[in-house]
Amino acid sequence: MSDTFKAILITRNEDKSQSVAEVDMTEAELMEGNVTVRVEATTVNYKDGLAITGKSPVVRRFPMIPGIDFAGTVLSSSHPDWHPGDRVVLDGWGVGETHMGAYAGRARVNGDWLVPLPRELTPVQAMAVGTAGYTAMLCVMALERHGISPERGPVVVTGAAGGVGSVAVSLLSKLGYHVIASTGRPAEAGYLKELGAAEIIDRAELSAPGRPLGKERWAGGVDAVGSHTLANVLAQTSYGGAVACCGLAQGMDLPASVAPFILRGVSLLGVDSVMAPKPLRLEAWKRIVHDLDHAKLSTLTTVIPFSGVLPAARDIVEGRVRGRIVVEM
Ligand code: NDP
Repeated sequence: MSDTFKAILITRNEDKSQSVAEVDMTEAELMEGNVTVRVEATTVNYKDGLAITGKSPVVRRFPMIPGIDFAGTVLSSSHPDWHPGDRVVLDGWGVGETHMGAYAGRARVNGDWLVPLPRELTPVQAMAVGTAGYTAMLCVMALERHGISPERGPVVVTGAAGGVGSVAVSLLSKLGYHVIASTGRPAEAGYLKELGAAEIIDRAELSAPGRPLGKERWAGGVDAVGSHTLANVLAQTSYGGAVACCGLAQGMDLPASVAPFILRGVSLLGVDSVMAPKPLRLEAWKRIVHDLDHAKLSTLTTVIPFSGVLPAARDIVEGRVRGRIVVEM
């Protein structure tokens, strides 16, 4: 059939384990939505790795096409904002979790979830940013709203060689911050310096249980790691500083004390990309166009074919992926 396309499908077995396979599908098998999009590029985020490996219960409806973000062209629409030929981006909204997602030739979604692909970006560039990069931008915007300007002092980025971390390092350095990159991969020091990191620290300095308060080392931070790492980042944030928290690569726990908050007035800024309201998304994408060095974006991106999604999903949960992966459809 002419409208057959390739998709990755997760199904649930009787014993509640899950199976993943590349299959042929038709539009009739997609879920309800008022806009159908030809997916031209997607990516592999950490959450996609969790969904495909089943390591965490990301997928909440079966069968499910995983993939939480895509860029593509509208094929048909009954939504007033979108017309055939419009180029769009989608991040989050439960796509790839409760609504069939990006790892397919077609996606049918609610038009309210889409934002225009910025004119300055190709679908591949937009997915090099992807949900990880857009989340990094949301973190930077949260720090700025809290008054953490470059003059306030250094900022730390944890999980620096990962997707959120690499884009955060790149954005913050272009904006003039002194960036301290925390990584468990010393071999990536050269890469992180190329992205703009001024200093590299070993993540082991932050990943073990620490003291409630430590020496004041940074004015703020972007944390993609959680757990002891975030607790230590908070304990070493200077008076009145702030840390944007978006990830849990080390763990979902936060074994911290109230000391940084009540003795140093430190703030913890929560960042969610999935349900972020549209005006914030539009602002983030506008800022990405202007504040991200696009030469650096290609340094941090690896482009893979559709057949590479499943191995890349396993690699990202094992911490073996550097920067961002783009899937060119
Ligand atoms: P990546 O896997 O690309 O990056 C995570 C990085 O964290 C790794 O590269 C590694 O960096 C570091 N890391 C991994 N395991 C550990 C560990 N056990 N202890 C300390 N550091 C570790 O993932 P993404 O960048 O795509 O996502 C990062 C996090 O942000 C994830 O938890 C993800 O779920 C979350 N996220 C949240 C969003 C939101 O809306 N709040 C949106 C997007 C992502 P290094 O090798 O440099 O040490």
